[in-house]
Amino acid sequence: MNPKSVSVATPEMVLIRYGELALKGKNRSSFENSLLRNIREATQHIAKIRIERRRGRIAVFADQRVMEIAERLQDIPGIKSVSPAWRCDAEPEAIVALARTIVRDALRSRPADEITSFRVESRRSEKRFPMTSSELDRFVADRVLPEIKNIRIDLKNAKERLGIEVRSERAYIFMRRLPGPGGLPVGTMGRAMCLISGGIDSPVAAYLAMKRGCHVSFVTYHSYPYIGEASKKKVIDLVRRLSRFQAKSRLFVVPFTEIQTTIRDKAPEPYRTVLYRRFMQRLASKLAERDRCKALLTGESLGQVASQTMENMTCIEAAAELPVLRPLVTYDKEDAIKLAHKIGTYDVSVLPEPDCCTVFMPSKPIIFGKVEACEAAEAKLGVDDLVRKALMGTERIIIESNA
Ligand code: ATP
Ligand code: MG
Repeated sequence: MNPKSVSVATPEMVLIRYGELALKGKNRSSFENSLLRNIREATQHIAKIRIERRRGRIAVFADQRVMEIAERLQDIPGIKSVSPAWRCDAEPEAIVALARTIVRDALRSRPADEITSFRVESRRSEKRFPMTSSELDRFVADRVLPEIKNIRIDLKNAKERLGIEVRSERAYIFMRRLPGPGGLPVGTMGRAMCLISGGIDSPVAAYLAMKRGCHVSFVTYHSYPYIGEASKKKVIDLVRRLSRFQAKSRLFVVPFTEIQTTIRDKAPEPYRTVLYRRFMQRLASKLAERDRCKALLTGESLGQVASQTMENMTCIEAAAELPVLRPLVTYDKEDAIKLAHKIGTYDVSVLPEPDCCTVFMPSKPIIFGKVEACEAAEAKLGVDDLVRKALMGTERIIIESNA
């Protein structure tokens, strides 16, 4: 590549860092294969890419829109950080020549009187390279910086850092390190079925599970006509936003009206919410089985509302046929809100659309429910029939982030 054509806006490639340290043997190759697949899937609508994979690094090349690819990859679980980068021969003079153009271009648009703190940070995995990394730092700094005005070396708190990675094949050079989510690639830990409401917490729970390698499917309960189409659309929007992290999601929309009216008419009022929730777990378990999910996922957090005491969570979980994961169980609401902002679901979650749980809300909900009381109440409801009918009316929607 001719260094003269370097421009900050048009990097040649994306250098991807991922945390494979804890992974050994078979897990490691499954981690890498899933990550590569997810990278391909996430970028296919942006440009045709070519991937090179070399010990501990993945490099993605494209002829165009590389900056966009880098930003897109910031959403892919398993990726620790990405750098839009350029490469050259792993040879000191070639590195200096490329570094010079990159630094000049990166600093070109600063205000004329601003003094910029700067450092060079080299890493060298190629031990045959004729300099140590600190020698290379100095070599590049000595040749590049004197030509640039208003720049000051600061090894501790540099605002601008020129990164150089010398590897056996080539050297990679970059100025920016954009953080990724970290965690594990989606798919490496199997599938989970998330019970998603239109609230703040369940979308955050889904994100946290994706970040730990789960592919997440979604189920939502909908009580038409008590709850309108806008509530369903809100959940679809949330799932679309969450699909940035896993590309494609399934959403099951389960009709819940008959279950709720039956509970209203035949069960003790204080138990209503807990009984709704037990039906949700039951139905989610059935859908999970069909969808090859190995666990359920909720946004419950201990003590947040009446239905989230340990006693009530016990009652609710007793109706589940799979383990229930609750990533937010110890979260404060503020922490969930912060994450919701970060992942881009907050502004949808706070739209004032009602959720089916608000239908026929009991005036004095039970706080410390008992499983036997739930079972006694359900004996009069015809549970199996209600479950069968709800499953029959379930709609399945495929949601893609890139659509
Ligand atoms: P969220 O913000 O996710 O709604 P929340 O703190 O408001 O959570 P609840 O409304 O008590 O809590 O719901 C607890 C959990 O039950 C939710 O996080 C979600 O996983 C599930 N849930 C509640 N309502 C629905 C619904 N209509 N459809 C699907 N799941 C639901
Ligand atoms: Mg809610």
